Amino acid sequence: MFDSLSERLGSTLRDLRGKGRLSDADIDATAREIRIALLEADVALPVVRAFINRIKERAKGAEVSGALNPAQQVVKIVNEELVGILGGETRRLVFAKEPPTVIMLAGLQGSGKTTLAGKLGRWLKSQGHTPLLVACDLQRPNAVNQLQIVGERANVPTFAPHPGATGSGELPEGPGDPVRVAREGIAHAKDKLYDVVVVDTAGRLGVDEELMRQASDIREAVQPDEVLFVVDAMIGQDAVATAEAFRDGVGFTGVVLTKLDGDARGGAALSVREVTGQPILFASNGEKLEDFDVFHPDRMSSRILGMGDLLTLIEQAEQHFDAEQSAATAAKMGSGELTLEDFLQQMLAIRKMGPIGNILGMLPGANSGQMKDALSQVDDKQIDKLQAIIRGMTPAERDDPKIINSSRRQRIANGSGVTVSDVNDLVNRFFDARKMMKQMAGQFGFGGGGRSAT
Ligand code: GDP
Repeated sequence: MFDSLSERLGSTLRDLRGKGRLSDADIDATAREIRIALLEADVALPVVRAFINRIKERAKGAEVSGALNPAQQVVKIVNEELVGILGGETRRLVFAKEPPTVIMLAGLQGSGKTTLAGKLGRWLKSQGHTPLLVACDLQRPNAVNQLQIVGERANVPTFAPHPGATGSGELPEGPGDPVRVAREGIAHAKDKLYDVVVVDTAGRLGVDEELMRQASDIREAVQPDEVLFVVDAMIGQDAVATAEAFRDGVGFTGVVLTKLDGDARGGAALSVREVTGQPILFASNGEKLEDFDVFHPDRMSSRILGMGDLLTLIEQAEQHFDAEQSAATAAKMGSGELTLEDFLQQMLAIRKMGPIGNILGMLPGANSGQMKDALSQVDDKQIDKLQAIIRGMTPAERDDPKIINSSRRQRIANGSGVTVSDVNDLVNRFFDARKMMKQMAGQFGFGGGGRSAT
């Protein structure tokens, strides 16, 4: 899902790289590309309009930032707005002060409710809860049985209205009244000290009044702490209409997106929060119980933008780098004039951002096999050693490493507590790195505008 959206947004934003400054016409052209990409991905038109207007307004009004170049600034704005339409902060489940917490699932047939009940049960258990699944889908012949099967797989007990179900032997046989089953399930949970009850309800193939009435009767009767609207992200634009129908007919407190592993365009998933005003709490991306997680708007956005965690890197760069010094260093990197002193300062700034492997891992392409191998060789201790060696040099040596002859190498080695071959290694690697940075500067557009941080 989101592959083609991701590709288009990524290439639009990459086109901005290397531009020293952005004119209004550049921004308009970028906004147009983003608009087409979103519409092609099936994002609802009003959502696209509002999104594009905000991007244009912010990009044109943006203050020139010391730490970011214009392209990075646009990426930052697009990301922030995308996080916004996905809901902003991660929204966590609300638990009742007095257990049991009641979570009701609602949605169309086939949206993945029953599967979700199992996933949610498994996840709640992993969070230290003792959940109970309650089977209130009495319409579909096999639904109760299906819930019992996922319950067993998730190792979570199921309360169901016929014999054989865990702890429900005293209930009447055959299909019954889902409202009654829901009430009895909750009473059973109180009695047996289950602290979360997940109520699976009936769905239909399309939205109909009977379905809505039944769901809202259950809601009325059990007063759930959360009503989760479960929506198949592959149903395209229909998702928005369905969400509106459920919002008006039953009401819900949160959304669960399912089938994000599908190859549909997924724009519906991007519209549902903005259209209904309710947050997305969880996302399902496969048929297995573990294919499920809390929904994080920021992570989803960076996945859609296809920039690895470059965005995190942008944020951290803003926090930790001295803008002027970085700009000067970036310019030197681009022209191949980097000194060991610059190298040391950059290393110190990078070390403040965390373990070096993590930082490099945030760069796009870091998941490729070759890059992974390279990252696994990066060692923070090694970097600390490099720092010690550079600190053992005189300012003149740091400035112009070419003057470091063999007697100087011996002195530096003695002073830094390393061997001469360590010093040789560093000096050789520095010359290699300088060459590589010059090449990278060209490739990533760093250093060109004189305002780069990285
Ligand atoms: P319900 O009618 O709403 O209870 O839906 P089900 O839980 O029975 O799910 C309908 C079908 O979708 C089943 O075949 C599930 O295995 C499948 N399904 C549910 N969630 C996902 C998901 O996240 N990804 C994929 N690929 N399939 C899913």
